[in-house]
Amino acid sequence: MSREVSSLGGVDAAPASASAIGLYARATAGFEERQARSVELLKQAAAEHGQGLIQSSSLGAEDMVITDLIARHQLPIAIATLDTGRLHAETLALLPQIEQAYGLKVLVFSPVHDAVINLVRTRGADAMYESLALRKECCAVRKLEPLKRMLDGRTAWITGLRREQSSNRADVPFAEPDGAGRIKLNALAEWSWADVWHYIATYKVPFNALHDQFMPSIGCAPCTRAISVGEDFRSGRWWWEDENAKECGLHKAHSNEELKSGTAA
Ligand code: SF4
Repeated sequence: MSREVSSLGGVDAAPASASAIGLYARATAGFEERQARSVELLKQAAAEHGQGLIQSSSLGAEDMVITDLIARHQLPIAIATLDTGRLHAETLALLPQIEQAYGLKVLVFSPVHDAVINLVRTRGADAMYESLALRKECCAVRKLEPLKRMLDGRTAWITGLRREQSSNRADVPFAEPDGAGRIKLNALAEWSWADVWHYIATYKVPFNALHDQFMPSIGCAPCTRAISVGEDFRSGRWWWEDENAKECGLHKAHSNEELKSGTAA
């Protein structure tokens, strides 16, 4: 193991940053076919769902690839993101970059102001560390409720979930019901992390600068940290929790009632 790689986690003279493209991008067998299948899936979804289709982007590496595919193939698919109010500046910086690179405006959905004020007043700003219930309450206010508004009136949504991301996601299909009457399309389900970065490098896709700081999976600032070598890519998210609890609820099947009441997380 090289010194550079062995010090990823920051124990001994860890580098502050390293190029994510240099670390991860690899051309592997079957990449072109996987890319072609994803493009076909997006084209078919656009034809089938029309205005009912939306990309729900976390602005992470996978979602930037999907946005690039949408723009490159001139697909009439709206792009949206959730601004939870706790995102890193580096994440928010992608919004003008997307507009500049592709001429596409990202629809931004934020939590209800009064609900956030109430959450912070009654629970504290960083209550997510205190218990799973409080973390889920924060996710319900800051993510699930705005997600519901994002998906209102839509018949299908596109995500960047991949099977390789974690053991919880090993069975992610290309298309699945979301539990609320819509279809969830996981356009990169079969892509590897090397594929994602090979695409980003090949097409010069804008990406979050935090990926160069050993953060492969980026969420809200208080709930994301850099990972060490050998750690699961999702281990930098909610690292203080049990592995099986590590989903914010965005990708669990929910009924509209659960989403409405905020009990879905
Ligand atoms: S990821 Fe963290 S900060 Fe973001 S909504 Fe969930 S608990 Fe709150």
